[in-house]
This record gives sequence, structure tokens and C-alpha cells, in this order.
Amino acid sequence: MSEYKTFSSDDAMAFADAHSELFGDHSKLTAEEFGDGNLNLVFRVENDKGTSLIVKQALPYARCVGESWPLTTDRARIEAEVLKLHRRFCPEHTVDVRYFDPVACAILMEDLDDYRILRAELNDGKKFNHFAPQLARYMANTLFYTSDFVLSSENKKAEVARFLNPELCLITEDLFFTDPYCNHERNNIEPSVLEKAKTLWHDDALKAEVAALKADFLSKPQALLHGDLHSGSVFINSDNCKVIDAEFGFFGPIGFDVGSLLGNLLLNYLACPGLHDEEACNDQQAYLLEQAEQLWQQFSETFSELMSRETQDPALESNLYQQRFLQRVFSDAAGYAGCELIRRTVGLAHVADIDSISDAGERATCQRLTIKLGRELIMQRNDLSNISQLLNLVRYQQPD
Ligand code: ADP
Ligand code: MG
Repeated sequence: MSEYKTFSSDDAMAFADAHSELFGDHSKLTAEEFGDGNLNLVFRVENDKGTSLIVKQALPYARCVGESWPLTTDRARIEAEVLKLHRRFCPEHTVDVRYFDPVACAILMEDLDDYRILRAELNDGKKFNHFAPQLARYMANTLFYTSDFVLSSENKKAEVARFLNPELCLITEDLFFTDPYCNHERNNIEPSVLEKAKTLWHDDALKAEVAALKADFLSKPQALLHGDLHSGSVFINSDNCKVIDAEFGFFGPIGFDVGSLLGNLLLNYLACPGLHDEEACNDQQAYLLEQAEQLWQQFSETFSELMSRETQDPALESNLYQQRFLQRVFSDAAGYAGCELIRRTVGLAHVADIDSISDAGERATCQRLTIKLGRELIMQRNDLSNISQLLNLVRYQQPD
């Protein structure tokens, strides 16, 4: 293919067939576009023996809005290259990208048809004990091996340049750190929480802390982040998790990935009373707090071990420095988790965890709590010394 063209199902089929040995010469292929994502086209290509692959193509605009929101197709390259690199450091928990075509801006990848999206499973009240340890390992490995602890100075700078990703970073910069804290037209605020949301716009102490978190997002290239690590980017089944959709990847603060995931567990936690009856709610909330605790504990243990064992730069071998580094990742993660709670309630992109609560009163209670807890996490992030303290803030949250 010599120039970009939006794929039809037939194009996706031909693309999958041309770049995979999987289907064989004479197999009969079918393809359907089934993506429910916000930005891209996603096709499933399948032969008559049930073998299938996924073709994901970036459109020159954001799919959910249309051509009035142009968006670089270079995001497909970023996605393919982040996933390939992350897979090198954590093959068990990263989707397998088989082929990337820079002209078609299309990725051919494994079909995770025997997995389900984590967000949907959590909303259904499902519990998986492997979730936290596996994603802790994914984050510790991918973030450590792309950091200054391992990469040479020269290589790191080249990698930072390869993954600059300015257009997609700008979306995060706006949606996370700017819109919710002012009366922005992109905000999506239910009338029942408008008064509460307005308090954010006049909260100078909070805005100063959010500014600091944004400044770090802009200027702290610690490691190659996934960049959009919410529970909709994780596929799960009864024994494994795999991460997809890394088009927001760039070199940024490690706490951003950790905080995004943690924030999504907390969103689900606060949505539980609106999603389940009382007994199931108590069960699910206890489960989510356990997973959140393990997520941080196992991430920090693995990251510490990697720092003490695998650090390449002698100047970064100081154990004291490494402990401080991790403590700072923790407070950053608490802050970014707080930003995630607020932006998913007030900002453009909501989550099904909350929006699917059918009772309007329950939904409003939940949204007020996400704003309140979000604020507390941002304000108190430097005073929280460990995950138990953070989770006590969550556990003893009272509606105001
Ligand atoms: P977007 O970047 O447009 O949000 P996603 O990567 O999140 O797109 O994919 C959208 C949807 O397509 C996912 O929620 C999932 O249902 C499906 N999907 C994406 N990748 C795969 C895959 N490798 N296997 C199976 N389904 C997939
Ligand atoms: Mg995406």
C-alpha cells in the first residue's frame, strides 16, 4: 500500500492475510468492525476454522467525535512500538503485536477473544486474585527497564525523542489537569453534582497541587509509560491479564501509570453501592481494597528489587536514593489517582462504573464521593506514608 486509506472490512482481511502465516493459503476469511473504543477502528478477522486476529487502524480523526477532531495517525506507531517494547520486558501481560504498517497506520495483533475487559468484569462483581500481582509485575518491569536505572543516557534521550507523542499527551494534559478545574465546555457534569464541581473551580489550594502534578506530567520523563492504564485497557480471564491500547505512551512520571490503575480500582470501589446489593457490595469493596494494597505492595517490592539488582548507573545505586525515589512514586501515584477520580466525574470521558448506576440518587452520591476523595488524595499525597494510610482514607470516606 503506497498511501493511507481508511480500511473497509475487506481491506482489513487482506491486510491480516498478507502479514500472517496463521490463516493458511485457502482459508475462507471473514472480517467485522466491532471496536467500541473512542478513537480507532478495530476489526476481527477470522477463518472458517475459528482462528482469528485483530486489526486496529488509526483514523486521521477521533472516531467518537468525527472529522471535526483531527488526530495524528502516528498514534498507531506509538501504540505498536510501546507494546512491542513492553512485551520485551513483560511478555506474559502485554498483547502480542504481530505486525505494524506505518503507511496504513494499522496494527495486526493477537485476538484476546477468550479474555474480557477488566472494567466490565469488575462492574459485574467478578473477582480475580491474579489481577493485582500480574499488573504489579507488568508495571514494575516495563517501567523499570525503560528508566534511567537501566538505559544509558544517550539511549534514553533517543527513546524519549522516539516517543514524544505530543498530540495524545495534549489530550491528557487538557482532560486530566485543566478542564475539570475550570468551567470548560468539554466538561460533562451531571446537574446533581454541578454545585460540587464548581467548588473545584475556586479551590486555589487544590489548583496549586494539580498544577504541580501537571508540571511533572509535562517534565518528568522517568520511564516509558503506557499512558492510558485504566481498567478498559486491561483484558482478563480466569488465569491471566493482558494490557492493550498503548497509544498514549510517552516518557513521563512512573506514578502516572500506577495512579491511573489505582484510581480505576477506587472508582469501582465507590461505585459498588450503586452497582450491587448490600452484601455483594461489601464483598466487592473488601476485594478491591485487597487488590489495591497488593498492587502497590507488589509493584514496590519488585521495583525495589530491580533497582538494587539491575541498576546500570553507579550513581543511582544508592539505596537511600532508591527508597526516596519509590516514596516519591507513591505520592505521585496517589495524586494522579485523585486526578483520575475527578476527571472521570467532571471531565469529558466518564466511566461505565459510575454512569451505569441506574438510580440517579446513588449515582450523585457516588460522584460527590469521587470528587471528595479525589481532592483528598491530591492534597494529602505527600503526607501519606504508605498504602495502608491511603486505603484508610478510602475506607473511612463519609459523604458530605
Ligand atoms: P481505542 O484505542 O479506539 O479505544 P481499544 O484498543 O481500546 O481502542 O479497543 C477497542 C475495543 O476493541 C476493546 O474494548 C476490545 O473490545 C476490542 N479489542 C481491542 N484489541 C483487542 C484484542 N487484541 N483482542 C480482542 N479484542 C480487542
Ligand atoms: Mg485507545
